[in-house]
Parts: sequence; C-alpha cells; structure tokens
Amino acid sequence: MGLKESEKIRYNRQMMIKGWGEGAQLKIKAAKVAVVGLGGLGSPASLYLAAAGVGHLRLIDCDTVDLSNLNRQVLHWSSDLGRAKVESAAMKLTQLNPDIVVDPVNEALTVDNVAQLLTGIDVVVDGLDNLQSRLLVNEACVCLGIPYIYGAVYGMEGFLTTIVPGKGPCLRCIYPSASAPSETFPVLGATPGVVASLEAAEALKLITGLGRPAIGRLVVCDVELMRFDEVTIKKDEGCPVCARQKPIR
Ligand SMILES: [Zn+2]
Repeated sequence: MGLKESEKIRYNRQMMIKGWGEGAQLKIKAAKVAVVGLGGLGSPASLYLAAAGVGHLRLIDCDTVDLSNLNRQVLHWSSDLGRAKVESAAMKLTQLNPDIVVDPVNEALTVDNVAQLLTGIDVVVDGLDNLQSRLLVNEACVCLGIPYIYGAVYGMEGFLTTIVPGKGPCLRCIYPSASAPSETFPVLGATPGVVASLEAAEALKLITGLGRPAIGRLVVCDVELMRFDEVTIKKDEGCPVCARQKPIR
C-alpha cells in the first residue's frame, strides 16, 4: 500500500527531510500512537502527530473542558466548555487530517485497564499531569515493551525523556515513588507547547528510526531563562519495573 496523491502533497515538506521519503511516511501511516491526557501537553502533541500523518491516534482522557484549561490546552476552545476532552480533540484532529483514524477513549487510566488500552500501541506519548499516573503508564509500557515519551511541565520549566524498554532507564528508575500529591500547579501555556512539540518529534523519530532519541537523557527546558540543558539518567539496577521488562520488538 503506497501513499495517495493527496498524501504525497500533504506530507511533501517532511518527506523532503534527509532519510525521510515515502518509506518513512508509510511507517508513520502504519503506526498506532496513544496520547494519554488531552490537556496542555496532549493537545499540541496530538495536533503535530495528526498533522504528520500518524495512521491511528488513540486519545485517552476522562475529563471535560473547563474554562481554566483554555490558557494552555489549545485543542479545546470556548465553544467546547463541558464537552469531553477526547471528543473535542477528536473533532479538531479529524478536521485537520481526515486520512487518519482518531480513536477517542473517554476513560480514566487505572491499574485494571491500562494494559488493555495500550496493547497494540507502538508509542505512548505523555500528556498527563501527575507522577502517579505517569508511573502507572510507565510500568504498563515497560511490561508490554512499548516506548513511552515522558513529558512534564511546571510553570515555565519543561522536562522530557524517551523511555525505550531494554535500551535505557524507565521513569521508575528516575522517580522511585510518587510522593507529592497531585495538586493545581502553575503553567504558562507556551511551556507545554514546547515540550509537546518535542514529544511528537521523538515519537516520529522512533516510528521512522530516524535521528537520535533522548534515551537516558532528561532534557530540561527553562523558558524563563531560555536555556536547554540535559541530565544523564541511568538505569537503576534494582528497579522493580525494569525487572518485568518485555524485550522490545
Ligand atoms: Zn526502571
């Protein structure tokens, strides 16, 4: 199965990137990506993934759109107040790219459904807002052998790392527990915009096999001082999650 003529035009500018071409675009078309959380991170991340032609996008969130979301959750607009975030997101993403399948799942991720919701997914993109949920997704991804792009923000600071089971540390290696309770924290909308764009790029790099993913590197972005730094992160040899790792395909 090749690309339609309209797809060749739609994706022309990215297919011009060295090493990309029709082969990489077909891999993107065949890919299934899950975006967990459709807020400040998940909104721009899913926009770029849909625009890039990811063939199947599973959107997982159980929230509805609130007025206090709109400074950063750019897929949701004033006319969406009260609507389920996955429905609001699916509507916009389908309009942006009718050639892809958008699969909204209006459910909370729990220890009971996380494995089922992520089975068959090629890459998971983090749009969550608390460490507890991230550690849940991390564990499921490590056990299922699915790469997980971690992204997080606080105020004007952003963080990103790419977790590929068997190829580097997992989130539990870095954060042994979620001690801090989840609470409302400050966010300038542009900060998750930056991190989410990087998350989408990392997902597309993994799918196509192009570039050097941020495995074993925590990228720290300080928007206030406009600095990007990276911290080397190592696998914890005693990590109970990594011990359950399934070899990557
Ligand atoms: Zn680990």
